[in-house]
This record gives sequence, structure tokens and C-alpha cells, in this order.
Amino acid sequence: MTESDGKITEVGADGTAAGSRRDELAANLAEVRKRIEAACAAAGRDAGEITLVAVTKTFPASDVRLLSGLGLADVAENRDQDAAPKAAACQDLPLTWHFVGQLQTNKVRSVASYAGVVQSVDRSKLVTALDRAAVRAGRRLRCLVQVSLDDQEGRGGAAPGDVRTLADEIAGAEALDLGGVMAVAPLGGDPAEAFARLAGIAAQVRQSHPEARVISAGMSGDLEAAITCGATHVRVGTALLGGRRAIVR
Ligand SMILES: *Cc1c(COP(=O)(O)O)cnc(C)c1O
Repeated sequence: MTESDGKITEVGADGTAAGSRRDELAANLAEVRKRIEAACAAAGRDAGEITLVAVTKTFPASDVRLLSGLGLADVAENRDQDAAPKAAACQDLPLTWHFVGQLQTNKVRSVASYAGVVQSVDRSKLVTALDRAAVRAGRRLRCLVQVSLDDQEGRGGAAPGDVRTLADEIAGAEALDLGGVMAVAPLGGDPAEAFARLAGIAAQVRQSHPEARVISAGMSGDLEAAITCGATHVRVGTALLGGRRAIVR
């Protein structure tokens, strides 16, 4: 989509373009909610336990606005450069912004200005930087420890053995609240196996921090497996918004 295409869609002189996109998003949302309900029913869980987080990366602020109008309250982005202007454009909407990408400490001050939740906390240095930025911004930030489930470098996430220490550090920080854990299923692996492992790690964290009940797991392709394994938050991009042209970073 070009910049001008985006503007035409947003302005929608006759309302047609925006209207059809709204219909498309509404249909996708209904489908995703149906999948969540079916997975919950199969797992003997209440669908009200699941928070649907819309991953809006690569899509315009106009889509965020439409999703908000359809009742979604949680949106996620993985790059500060894209997230900051989108959050600014949607400031009037009742949204919680989740940051789910690899986060460099030089972006922390910006992220702390709009995010309510940082799901990708994976090292001590980041805890310190986020706390300092949140204190300075006069805000509280909810943090999840991102767990690496494939022992591979480069996709972010703390080694399982480091998770409890990071959780302690977040819980002890002045302006941070420990929400729980997050993970992405390893590429090519069995997601159910990975999510079961994550559930075990989450239970360990709850032994010292009973309030840290969030398990953020599951995306468009594997949300059922995640819900079966106890996920409280699913992060859905493609199934809600359609295919992304850009390479997933
Ligand atoms: C892009 C992304 C998602 C959503 O992935 P889909 O397969 O499009 O649903 C979820 N979590 C993270 C961390 C992402 O970067």
C-alpha cells in the first residue's frame, strides 16, 4: 500500500473504502473470536479469560482506529519507529499499546511514553532502562519476561534459566509491574510442546510472584495450542488484518 493509498482509505471521501475495510476487519475479528471460543470450550476454559491483542505492525493507524471501533482494546507493535507515530495518531482512543519486539535501550524512553505493556523484556539492562524511563515519564509499565524456547540467538527472549531472576528484578523495580511471561513458538517445532514448556516456566514464576498471571502465547497459526496450554493473551496479526507485505522483523 502506498502512502497515498493509505490516505484515500483513511479519508474515504464517500466512505466506501473505509467502510469495506471495516467490514473486512469485523469479519476477521468474528472469525478469530470464534476460534478462541472453540479452543476455550475444548480446553474447559472461559473465553473471558483470554485477551485478544491485535498485532497491527505494518498496518496504518486507520486500521487501529477501525479495530478500536469494533471493540478491541489491546494493540501490539514490534518497532518503536512505527509504533510511536501510530500511538500518537490514536491518542484519543481507549487503547493499551503492547510492545512485542526486540527493544534496544536507546528506544526505551520513547516506548515508555506510550506503551502500557512491554512484553519483550529479556535482559537486566532493559529492566533498569525501562524503570528509569517510566519513573521519568511518571508512568507505570507492565512488563512480561520474554522466554526463548528454541535456545536460538537473534529472536529475542531470555534463556529459561534466567527468567526467575528477571522476574524478581521487574517486581523489585520502582515503576514496573510484573505481568507474567511471553513467548513465540520456535519455527518448525511443535507449538504445543513449546507452550507446555512456557506454562511450566510461568508456574515457577508464580511461586514467587502469584500476581504474575499473564501467559502471552499464540499467534494466528497456533492460538488454539496456546489456549490449550493456558495462554491468557494471544497476539494475532495476520488472521485479523490480513497478510503483511513487509518481511516480519
Ligand atoms: C507479528 C507478531 C505476532 C503476530 O503474528 P501473526 O502470525 O501475524 O498473527 C505475534 N507476536 C509477535 C511477537 C509478532 O512479532
